[in-house]
Amino acid sequence: MKIYYSDESHILIMGKVRLTWLGHSCFEVRSRSRLLIDPFLDNNPAATVRSGEVETDFIAVTHGHFDHLGDTVSIARRIGCRVFCIHELSQYLRSRGVLTEGMNIGGTIKLQDLAVTMTPACHSSSIDEAGHLFDGGKAAGFIIRTGGVCIYHAGDTGLFRDMQLIGDLYKPDVAIIPIGGRYTMDANDAALAVGMLRPKITIPMHYNTYEHISQDPHIFSSEVKKVSDANVVILDVNGHICIKAKDC
Ligand code: ZN
Repeated sequence: MKIYYSDESHILIMGKVRLTWLGHSCFEVRSRSRLLIDPFLDNNPAATVRSGEVETDFIAVTHGHFDHLGDTVSIARRIGCRVFCIHELSQYLRSRGVLTEGMNIGGTIKLQDLAVTMTPACHSSSIDEAGHLFDGGKAAGFIIRTGGVCIYHAGDTGLFRDMQLIGDLYKPDVAIIPIGGRYTMDANDAALAVGMLRPKITIPMHYNTYEHISQDPHIFSSEVKKVSDANVVILDVNGHICIKAKDC
């Protein structure tokens, strides 16, 4: 399957799936339905979109840390949308009046035109609510299949060898990878991840939001070129690409 994509500098190719970066790890996947991943907006120094303005059909949360769970509770309560997340996090969210679709590593949920599969991530998880820590279960990533396109959002993670398996099993067209270092992979490890995942397009995330995760995405770009023929798309905040699968 050939995948076409465009970014702001290219002619828009009748996008089947539109992928927008809202800053840090927050992305919107828009096909017939809309999925918002890790909506950390109001307290995100890199984001300009506010939680009160977003509309979505579903939210997916990779883990409980504040910069990923973010504004999930207020958005989900306002809209009444369901949240895909790991079992322990879904129990917490349910206790806060949020509709959830609890799941766990390796499982898939199909709703409307979306299939969301939870993948492992090499990271921790907890929920901090006004100084009280709740069990966040395990940290995760997601494989999202919609509109004939497969997108891997790695969540927060260090490099792990099973990314090869994720590449073999799901053949992601797009891999969204953290590159900020300190809490996740840095640009060099992230390039090795792309070598194992073998996507057609890769997009860096989780960098330059704070000083201690400052990173030059062009280092990632040049490292990726050494190990893979993936197109590296460095998005600006609120920038997007449109992806269309030829035979869908
Ligand atoms: Zn984290």
